[in-house]
Amino acid sequence: MSDDTVPTEADLTGATPRRRPKQQPLDIDGHRLSPSTLMMGHGYDPMLSEGSLKPPIFLTSTFVFESAAAGKRHFEGVTGKRPGGAEGLVYSRFNGPNQEILEDRLGIWDDAEDALTFSSGMAAIATVLLAHVRPGDVIVHSAPLYAATETLIGKILGRLGVQWLDFPAGATRADIDAVLARAQAAGRVALVYLESPANPTNALVDVEAVVAARDTVFADLEAKPPVVIDNTFLGPLWQKPLRQGADIVLYSLTKYAGGHSDLVAGAAVGSKAQIDLIRTIRNTIGTITDPNTAWMLLRSLETLELRMTRAGENAARVCAFLRDHPKVEHVGYLGFLDPGGRQADIYRRHCTGAGSTFSLFLRGGEAESFRFLDALRIAKLAVSLGGTETLASHPAAMTHLSVPDARKQALGITDNLVRISIGVENADDLIADCDRALRAV
Ligand code: PLP
Repeated sequence: MSDDTVPTEADLTGATPRRRPKQQPLDIDGHRLSPSTLMMGHGYDPMLSEGSLKPPIFLTSTFVFESAAAGKRHFEGVTGKRPGGAEGLVYSRFNGPNQEILEDRLGIWDDAEDALTFSSGMAAIATVLLAHVRPGDVIVHSAPLYAATETLIGKILGRLGVQWLDFPAGATRADIDAVLARAQAAGRVALVYLESPANPTNALVDVEAVVAARDTVFADLEAKPPVVIDNTFLGPLWQKPLRQGADIVLYSLTKYAGGHSDLVAGAAVGSKAQIDLIRTIRNTIGTITDPNTAWMLLRSLETLELRMTRAGENAARVCAFLRDHPKVEHVGYLGFLDPGGRQADIYRRHCTGAGSTFSLFLRGGEAESFRFLDALRIAKLAVSLGGTETLASHPAAMTHLSVPDARKQALGITDNLVRISIGVENADDLIADCDRALRAV
């Protein structure tokens, strides 16, 4: 404001300066910049922060209005009295500079209009579900899902009268059509929720077929149920489901995006309209990520492509070694799909890399698996994935211990299954570690 008391035209038109540049060039003279380049500076202007090359961590719970008129203008936007929504920064439950820079950069990987970050992957999933479901609705989902997601849909939303129907991750278009038609008959379908590849089976969902089925079965509806997909295992580098027609892509940023096993966070990316709807719920319940974690994620994104590429190359070499080993029954790795099969067809249409998380089926059962795990020296025994270090775990005895035996059997979670997430160490060292551990089996 030019004067302390009188609002200028700039105040009234909302031209209040923002802490960050909203639009930055994504190209140089028509040459489109790649995400890995944009991760170094996109969305941040050093001159707004004393020239600091890197964004400071903005540890504040609230932000100062430049004038009373600017404060009123903000709340007019929040309440819908003025079109265009809220502007600028107000209160840290809603947004903050670190989170906004992070969201601008994160959206680039998926070529998304907008993005939101959350305090965990589950916070992202819960906020998106809350944005869409009402009592009596039906959620259609692929199966299996990450265990906490299944609990959230089946038990917690179930208590609120929400029903669910599922189809197996590898389902065909005809199977998906049939489940959607059954769901439509059972109630209002709130959304179609996917996880691909599924944890821990690595089965891929045909997102293109799901979107086509949704468009056909709900052809008469103007507002069709959105297709939401958890892309934690292959995203954002090796799979970009918005390209296959998904409406919202979800992440546990705790995994590859964070990538150092030192933070917990989540994200949702998609069109501005979809993200605005989710933002209203996030603003209300406060599931946003904190500034410190957002800052750490900004650092992580600078090396995302390097880390994921190296982990993917390492995994290809380790899996090639394991596949031919006499003590190994089978390796469930996306790089080894039967070229003539349906899964390979989905892989070719949806994925650009096989990832670095896979299932190792040893000859034997729990005893052999435990001997293998206990003999590892480089790989750490821990749940989670996508970090710089290699992790290994036993789903049947750990993450999926509470799953009933029949369901475990149906999902292929057997006692001889070891889950491995390969990191960025030296591949020869990892192979030596596996070789040693297999000798102990
Ligand atoms: N989605 C998938 C596929 C996961 O594997 C996980 C965690 O392992 C989550 C979601 C939940 O993420 P977070 O632990 O960050 O809440």
